Amino acid sequence: ATSDTTYNRVMLKISGEALMGDAGFGLHPPTVERIAKEVKSVHDMGVEICMVIGGGNIFRGLQGSAQGMERTTADYMGMLATVMNALAMQSALEGLGIHTRVISAIPMDQVCEPYIRRRAVRHLEKKRVCIFAAGTGNPYFTTDTAATLRANEMRCEAIFKGTKVDGVYDKDPAKHSDAQRYDKISYDEVLQKHLGVMDASAIALARDNHLPIVVFSLDEPGGFRGILAGDGTHTIVHD
Ligand code: UDP
Repeated sequence: ATSDTTYNRVMLKISGEALMGDAGFGLHPPTVERIAKEVKSVHDMGVEICMVIGGGNIFRGLQGSAQGMERTTADYMGMLATVMNALAMQSALEGLGIHTRVISAIPMDQVCEPYIRRRAVRHLEKKRVCIFAAGTGNPYFTTDTAATLRANEMRCEAIFKGTKVDGVYDKDPAKHSDAQRYDKISYDEVLQKHLGVMDASAIALARDNHLPIVVFSLDEPGGFRGILAGDGTHTIVHD
């Protein structure tokens, strides 16, 4: 990386909903492009970038199962949704001239690469953005857990969780004007207070491997680059 940042390799986790813009469902290509530009600005710093994108803008397993679908089938549909989002992001990034690979936990050779750890590491070394799709490949998990798993496997220095708010608050800042943002908070406190940064299995996996989670606002233009350069409000979840 350049002298602008201390990070060499990071994981960016965004929810599927981040790609839908103001639409209530699916993909909004101008929003995908806006986020791709945020990623490019960090790529331009020389940082190696992994991405995991959720699928909630298209399908969530839990919602499907609540409506009577078999849970694991519904989860596979959710995983497939993440592949669509990954392909949309790949298209937007490549439109900006950035080489990318979509790497799926569930092999689908005509569409993208299968996940092979050493191969993914090599892509990162060659400065290709790696978008990890299909979650962990297992039902009953979330893409937050997938992001934490891949971040550990790729030896990322931190997970950057881009959200609608600029950090972790003691209560929902959209509902309570007196909500307080944490600058730093421990994994255990996040779990005890059910702060909803990520699901509990993702937090525990990060904690057990001392992987910091940086929560920041994806709505802030230039926000991702700013956080990597050491400014901009955020919350860091750590030991
Ligand atoms: N999913 C899964 N295993 C995984 C990751 C995801 O079964 O390892 C399914 C699950 O049904 C989930 C859906 O994919 O609801 C979409 O992922 P997620 O809800 O994490 O997306 P986000 O909320 O980040 O958009």
